[in-house]
Formats: sequence, structure tokens, C-alpha cells
Amino acid sequence: MEMEWWTLVPKIELHAHLNGSIRDSTLLELARNLGDKGIVIEDFAAENVVYLELRTTPKRNDSIGMTKRGYMEAVLEGLKAVTAVDVHFVSSGFGTENSIINPDIHNTCGGIIRKKIYVGLLLSVHRRDTTATAMDTVQLALEMRNLGVVGIDLSGNPVVGEWATFLPALKYAREHGLRLTLHCGEVPNHEEVQAMLDFCPERIGHACCFEEDSWRKLKSSRIPVEICLTSNIVTETIPNIDKHHFADLYKHKHPMVLCTDDKGVFSTSLTREYTLAASSFGLGEKEIFELARDAIEFIFADDGVKSQLRMIFDSAAKKLEL
Ligand SMILES: [Zn+2]
Repeated sequence: MEMEWWTLVPKIELHAHLNGSIRDSTLLELARNLGDKGIVIEDFAAENVVYLELRTTPKRNDSIGMTKRGYMEAVLEGLKAVTAVDVHFVSSGFGTENSIINPDIHNTCGGIIRKKIYVGLLLSVHRRDTTATAMDTVQLALEMRNLGVVGIDLSGNPVVGEWATFLPALKYAREHGLRLTLHCGEVPNHEEVQAMLDFCPERIGHACCFEEDSWRKLKSSRIPVEICLTSNIVTETIPNIDKHHFADLYKHKHPMVLCTDDKGVFSTSLTREYTLAASSFGLGEKEIFELARDAIEFIFADDGVKSQLRMIFDSAAKKLEL
């Protein structure tokens, strides 16, 4: 398959950490970098990512008077200021003025054709957080849910923190309608993996270090898995690509979505992750396209956005004669 073919396939990115996706910058430069250079969004749009969920841990820095809300507003301002790409923030069913009507992938503005990309934000509860800090993050997500925040992620050093610490905040998020994704099984921790699966989040990330009964539980749960091939190999969570659980989950038609995790840190792109899956697991054009398209069902945005994305994929399928 030619490089051009890969670019023509629309893609959906659901596991991307903002902090790793921007090049070196201080937090104070964040908004300016995102806005002036459009680094994040432009890189994704260039490879035909049509829907993107970016996750970030809201940061607070008392010495410069920066609150978590201030940090998130800087991120949003920065993303809104991107001019090279037409950015649409999405909602998860709460209703927003940013909802989308036009299904075209390109938008013409002043004679310049700009690629359109739908963007949702996930606020990350960090594993070093206390219950109170985690609750603050969820509260902030709720306050900002009409501004493009669609859910909560749990991430951070997998050997730090206890599931019981985050659980009250995650339950609170769920009770208030936020969708949840959890970094799950990055290191062996049988009890935690089981507890996370019992909690039934809308998605989990990685799912690398699972014991046999956890695989069984995952497969019967049908919880979609965000698969980050390069990240898992580089971090040696999985010894090599031939041992990756993608093959087994794919064979069982388990819901999955290919993601980058952290483009900057792992020097990858979503296109590269798809080419790696194709070459490693013997997937043809049709299988790759279907894998990319299936991700529509796992996004945290509302049904309106899902139908827009279906139209984009239908139109691409015709162009690609699939
Ligand atoms: Zn991650």
C-alpha cells in the first residue's frame, strides 16, 4: 500500500497525551505554542486524523498564580487559536454551540481550504493524586464540559497509587455523565486489573499485563481497548510485536482502536501505527479501513458527531474503492 493510500484513510485518535504531543515548551508558552504553531493539531490533521481526543493532567503552579482551571483555559485558548486547521470542539451529549453541522472534511475560509478536525479533551486524574485532588479534576471537567471536555482518564506512573484512592472521584464522574477511560494493566497488578474491569469503564488503555482470567473477563465485557503498539514495545511492556495481544484480540473481534499514546516521546504517528499493524499482523486494505472506522463507536462525543464521522468514512471508502 502506497503512502498516499494510508493518508487517504480517515483516522480517529483516542489515546494521545497532550504534554507529550507538543514540543518542548514551558507551561506559560503552552497556549502560544498551540495557537501560533498549531503543532498538535496540525500534525494530526496532516495525516488525516478527523477526530482526536487529547488528554492532559490539569496543572497548578502557585508560584506563578496558575490554577488548574487557568491551565485548562490556556490549553483551550491555544487550540482555538490554531488557524491552519479548522478545529471543532465536541460535546458528549450536553449540547454545545460548537456542535457540527457540515460533514465536509475540508472547510473553505477566505479562499483557503483548511482541514477539519473534531477535538475532545479528557482531563487526566494522575495516579499520584489524593482522593481530594482527583475529585477537583473531575469537578473541573464537569465545569468545562460544554467547552470541549468529554471525559476523564486515569494515568501516571502505574506503580504509584491505589485504585481505592481514585475510585470515589471516578464514580462521581460517572454519576454526572462523564465518560471514563483508564490506563489498565501497564504493569502486573492482578487485583487492580480485575477491579478496573469490574468497574466497566467506557474504554481502557494498553491492557498489556493481564493474567488468563483477566483476558476472559475483558473479552466477555467487550470494553474497547486503546492499543498503542510502538509505545508498548519501546517501554518494553511487551517484549516484541509478535507477542502483542493485538493479534489475539483481533482474532476474537474484540473492540479496539489503534493510538499513538505519545507521538513526541515514542517518535511515531497514527499512520505509522496502522502500517505497523498491517505489516505485523497481515491486515489488508479492507481490514485496516474497517479497524479505523470501528473506532467511531468508541468515541466519547455524542451521536451527532458519530454520524458526521460515518459520512466521512463512507466518502473515503468510495474514493478508495473499498
Ligand atoms: Zn497513555
